[in-house]
Amino acid sequence: MPDSREDKAAWYRRAAEASVFFLTGAGAETGAGGAARAATGVCAAAGLAAAQGESNESIAIDCFEIPAIDSPGISIRGLVIPPHVDLPPSWRAVPVRQGLSLLASGASGENEKTDRLLRAFHIAQWRRESRFCGSCGAKNTDSAGELSRLCPVCGRLEYPRISPAVITLITNDRGQVLLAHNKKFNNGVYSLIAGFNEAGENLEATVAREIREEVNIEVRDVRYIVSQPWPFPNSLMLGFSASHAGGEIKPDGVEIADARWWGREELPPLPGKGSVARHLIELWLSGAL
Ligand SMILES: [Zn+2]
Repeated sequence: MPDSREDKAAWYRRAAEASVFFLTGAGAETGAGGAARAATGVCAAAGLAAAQGESNESIAIDCFEIPAIDSPGISIRGLVIPPHVDLPPSWRAVPVRQGLSLLASGASGENEKTDRLLRAFHIAQWRRESRFCGSCGAKNTDSAGELSRLCPVCGRLEYPRISPAVITLITNDRGQVLLAHNKKFNNGVYSLIAGFNEAGENLEATVAREIREEVNIEVRDVRYIVSQPWPFPNSLMLGFSASHAGGEIKPDGVEIADARWWGREELPPLPGKGSVARHLIELWLSGAL
């Protein structure tokens, strides 16, 4: 374990990046005992004390159980494990984004698992960041009847934060799509233009502003298509389509290193399956957009 408070904070962030989640439908996927008991076992094996439903400030590990959405009787048992912890033989550590691609490219019916992974990851991060009341600083407790944190001193409730962000598939009148390489992307991946909604701004304005800021063009016919939770760290991605209305592409050079129009036959490396960007691009490739 790290010694100083700063070391601990950095370690905590790394642990978040390397988090492992063990998801279960009423224990089915982890065999006898279920994830919660297995989680307790891993905590014990790692020499870390962790109690379900409680975050301990001194350790970077969190075991929790939450109800799954739209699956009555099913709950998600989540476990956040720092990278150095040895796992039981039958368990495998997979970075969350990679896990998303694995689940999304698996057999049919895997979307439910993807949804659970996204929900578990979002809530695990929120739990880690909501240990203290944002108003008076007292230590929060878990609310009894809903997914929220309750301050026992001033009564403030805190719910998981969800930040709306837009992502837009832009096409031109030559049947091409605008794909951009963000400086943060690995492996030469090109994706769609995306950005966060600002306070006081409607989503259509966010779409237009982000596109103007990042690639300097104007769009028209902005249309909502699909959404996806994207808890990196806490977004709800709202997917749009739009048509090029004017201006030449000029990458901002800050976030966007390169951006071009691409035809169907000459596409660059694309974002992984399971992302809303990939979904929108595939809708376009299939002719649905
Ligand atoms: Zn308070």
